[in-house]
Formats: sequence, structure tokens, C-alpha cells
Amino acid sequence: MWEDLFGKLLLLGVVILILAAGGAIFVLFRILQRDKRELSMRLLLEEQSREIWLDYSFRKRLLRISGARDQLFGGLPSNMRGEGVYEVYDWVHRNDGSIRSGISNFLDSAERHYETELRIRNADGDYSWYSLQATLTRDKMDVNKRLVVVLKDINKERSQEKKLQQRAENDLLTGIYNKKTMEKRVREALAERKDDEHQIFFMIDIDNFKKINDTLGHIYGDKVIADTAARLKEIFKVNAAIGRLGGDEFAVCTSFEAFDADNLRRYIQEKAEIVRKALKATYANSDTAVEVSCSIGIAVAPDFGTDFETIYQKADKALYLSKRSGKDRFNIYKNSSTNL
Ligand code: GH3
Ligand code: MG
Repeated sequence: MWEDLFGKLLLLGVVILILAAGGAIFVLFRILQRDKRELSMRLLLEEQSREIWLDYSFRKRLLRISGARDQLFGGLPSNMRGEGVYEVYDWVHRNDGSIRSGISNFLDSAERHYETELRIRNADGDYSWYSLQATLTRDKMDVNKRLVVVLKDINKERSQEKKLQQRAENDLLTGIYNKKTMEKRVREALAERKDDEHQIFFMIDIDNFKKINDTLGHIYGDKVIADTAARLKEIFKVNAAIGRLGGDEFAVCTSFEAFDADNLRRYIQEKAEIVRKALKATYANSDTAVEVSCSIGIAVAPDFGTDFETIYQKADKALYLSKRSGKDRFNIYKNSSTNL
């Protein structure tokens, strides 16, 4: 009888053991399933957010790349080890190469967060702007433990910002600099002028422009203004700031390295003649034709001043002289002490 009872208890014990083990395996299985679900959910979210995550473990010397990684780093494996991790820098635009020292300084600093913006090569070979946010964790001994870098595509915001900036800096009708930007650019050019360099400031005003408005209408007037800017852009393709100072008045600031005063004078005269001829045109509708020409005033730095106000005033005086002496001509500001 005792044996019978012992046998039953043993059987019960084995059943309980089997059930407990089964239960434990089931719970473990559910936990693993949940972790897996959470991981795939996280990866999905990372991918949808168009963010790229770089997670580096200092102990394992292991870098994991996740998120929208196909968009970037397409050719890199999702796990990288040891020295291989530096390959990610090959994707960075060469003008943003300072990111390498930026991150290195950050790792040596007491900071926990680091932020910057940089250009990274896309899967299609073009560069896009990304914001970079890095977070560093350290252990109790203050040794670097984990670095998480989140890259976010900010190309859209960047190009919108650029458009707004362009709208603020340029004249709406012509697309060239507005008066404020022109003044800023000329001030910069004068301040950065090299010793053997001359800055030549041209002021250009359309002759009898009111007549265009009065006889052909404002639409034609606008066209003359837009055409004038387009011609100036064609003439001064490089190394020049071109702006509309207002109404029918334009300015160009360009630099020239001259051998001597003769060389400089000839260069200015040639350029001024090209502008004068290029801006001579006839505008007509079905019953009226109007001849358009321009008057030009020129001042040169450092010969007649090195600051914006002086150069502007002298070019304006030379322009006034061109207007008063018959229009459709240019004048270089002169005084008796120079050869110009
Ligand atoms: P001058 O030969 O002495 O330069 O005389 P002008 O007839 O060209 O007259 P002025 O330069 O003094 O005046 C320019 C005119 O340009 C005055 C204004 O009505 C007109 N104007 C200013 N801005 C615009 C514009 O954006 N579009 C048009 N169509 N006209 C403009
Ligand atoms: Mg005018």
C-alpha cells in the first residue's frame, strides 16, 4: 500500500515538474516573442521616421546601424567592428570632414550631447543635409560606454531656408541683389581687397526710362529693367556683385589686378563700352518705338577711396556728369592727383 502511494506521489511530482517546466518555457517563449515584436516595431518606427541610428558599444567595439539605412550607407553592413567603423566617414562631404574631429573632441570632453549639421552621400550618389544628434553614456568610472548618433534628413528644411534667404537678399523683378545686399557685398569686397587689386564700382541708370513707362506702359518698363539685369549678368559672369539699387538704377562691383594705371583705365573703358552698347536697344509696340540707352558713373578703390560711402558718392557724381553731358555715355570719377 505504501509503495502504491509512493508511486502515485512520484508520478504526481513528475507531472508537476513537467507542467512547471512547460510553463516556464511558455513564459520564456512569450517574453522572447514580445522582445522580437518590440524590436521589429522599433525598427519599423525608425525606418518610417527617416532617421538613421548609429549605436556604438565601446566595450564590444561594435557599431550597429539601423533605421532608414538604405537611404544612406547602403553599401555598409548593419554591424561593423573595430577599425572598420571609421568607414562611415567616407560618406561625409569633404567640406564637412571636421565632423571627425568634432566627434573625437566630444568623446574626450565632459559633455553628454553633441549636435551639428552635415552633408552625407545618399544611395544615389548626391549629397543631402542631415542633422546629427549624438548622446554619450559613461560608466561609474567615467569610461565611455555607448554612443548613439541619430541622423535626420533636413534637406527640405534647408532648401526652404535657402529660398527664403534668396527672397530676402535679391530683387524680386530681376533676381540680382537688392540694394541692401549689394551694399553688404561691396563693403565686404572693399574690406577684403588685396594690395594689388582694384575694386571697380559701376553705377548704371537707364536714360529717359519714364518715357518707356509713359508711352509703352509699365509692363514694358518692367521688361526693360529685367533685360538690363540679364545683360549685366551676361557681361559680368564671374568675380562680380550685381545689384538693383532701385527703380532703373543698377550697380556692379568687380575686381581687377592691373599692371599700371594705363592697364586699369583701358580695362574699365572697355567694360564700360561693352555695358553701354549692350544696353542700347529699341522697345516697340504696334504703334510706338522707344530708344533705350544708359548712363554710367564709375569709381575705383583704392584710387578714390576705400570705404563704401566714398566710392558710392564718387560713382554717383560721375553718373550725374554722364547724364548732364548728354546721356548714353560713361564717366570715371577723376581728380587732378591721379592718372585715371
Ligand atoms: P533719367 O534719364 O534722368 O534717368 O530720367 P528717367 O526718365 O530715367 O527717370 P528717373 O531715372 O528719374 O526715374 C525712374 C522711373 O522709374 C521713376 C519710376 O516711375 C520708374 N520706376 C521705378 N521702379 C519701377 C519698376 O519697378 N517698374 C517700372 N516699370 N517703373 C519703375
Ligand atoms: Mg533713369
